[in-house]
Amino acid sequence: MVLTLQQIADQVKLDVLTADPVKDNAAKLIEISRTFISDTVTVPSKGMLEYAAQATQGDDVYFEPATAALEEHIAKLTGKEAGLFMTSGSASNQIALRTHLKQPPYSIIADHRAHIHKYEAGGAAFHSGATVIAIVPSNHHHLTLADVQENAVITTDTHFAPTELVALENTLNGTILPQKEAIAICDWAHSQGMKTHLDGARIWHVAVETGKSISELCEPFDSVSLCFSKGLGAPIGSCLVGTKEFITRAKWFRKLFGGGMRQTGYLAASAAYALTHNFPQLPRVHALARRVEAGLEKIGAKISSRAETCMIFYDPAPIGVNYDEIAERASKLAHPLVLGGSRLVIHIQTSEEAVDDFLSIVRELAGEKKAAGFTPPTAQENGAYRDVYVRRPQKTN
Ligand SMILES: *Cc1c(COP(=O)(O)O)cnc(C)c1O
Repeated sequence: MVLTLQQIADQVKLDVLTADPVKDNAAKLIEISRTFISDTVTVPSKGMLEYAAQATQGDDVYFEPATAALEEHIAKLTGKEAGLFMTSGSASNQIALRTHLKQPPYSIIADHRAHIHKYEAGGAAFHSGATVIAIVPSNHHHLTLADVQENAVITTDTHFAPTELVALENTLNGTILPQKEAIAICDWAHSQGMKTHLDGARIWHVAVETGKSISELCEPFDSVSLCFSKGLGAPIGSCLVGTKEFITRAKWFRKLFGGGMRQTGYLAASAAYALTHNFPQLPRVHALARRVEAGLEKIGAKISSRAETCMIFYDPAPIGVNYDEIAERASKLAHPLVLGGSRLVIHIQTSEEAVDDFLSIVRELAGEKKAAGFTPPTAQENGAYRDVYVRRPQKTN
């Protein structure tokens, strides 16, 4: 059967817009302002979209001016020779590992909570044939040189996979890696002929909180991955930085993995807008996170990981409440709150009202439990709830 062009066009065509996009997107923005599960939910503002619409329109597999300008800027900002725009933070990390690691057997040292280990679908094994040595930090906060030295495999014994890469993460679950530890670990790793990579998806937050420049924070590492689509609020994109030679090779792997994109000018411009207009908003985000932490502490919940930047991990067990009860009550509000479990993430589009509503719910539930006879644990019992690490890294310049 031969169809007319019109018949085929009718099969092909698609309209993805809702009946009332303006109203629906306004409602979505309210939902986002009340969503605590991640900062990936942030959406482009009107200003960002208007700026992005004016971007250059090259094909990035050949050359795209706005994208090249972004890569050059991030390279300069991080004190590295070259940068490469990536589809995602996972792509950026995985391509970095693949570029550093040449021929197995080898191992990568990482924190046991590291994104490259836990949340990239086992990519290190799949893409690079690497085994990850996942370490529980002895201080329960961040990896130290002693942790790394104890676990690194330096041997010619054929039972083992020698460590060729140390991959650190800053922030990790919203916590800050002390810079002197990053320097000590990287200096030692380099002295052993190992490479070092930093997953700096949220390195922006570290700069804001410590007053250290992005280049100082990146200085110890051979390569760094930085994300635009998390705390900075751009829709898509990360940047990998390193030496010219490293980035030339990474570009090959990006193409090989299907990550060579075409008209990326809009995305690069969105990232540029985020760097310019959203980065300066992070201190407010951190202050809001500290307000959540203080509120929870006052109510009597346990803080299991402090609001060093934009995240808090908490446990309501000491007030007799569980996460499901909080989530259920939050879902019944006229404008529901979207909550995960222990992790609360504050972002540039979080509203203060959402924070107040969240704390009100926890306070209310705690009150009800108390009225129903729940007795908070004694100071001694409460020892079980106390966190191992509660020190906030010192702010230095
Ligand atoms: C989100 C995240 C990534 C990966 O980013 P995607 O864009 O989601 O692939 C990498 N590292 C850290 C620490 C992250 O939080």
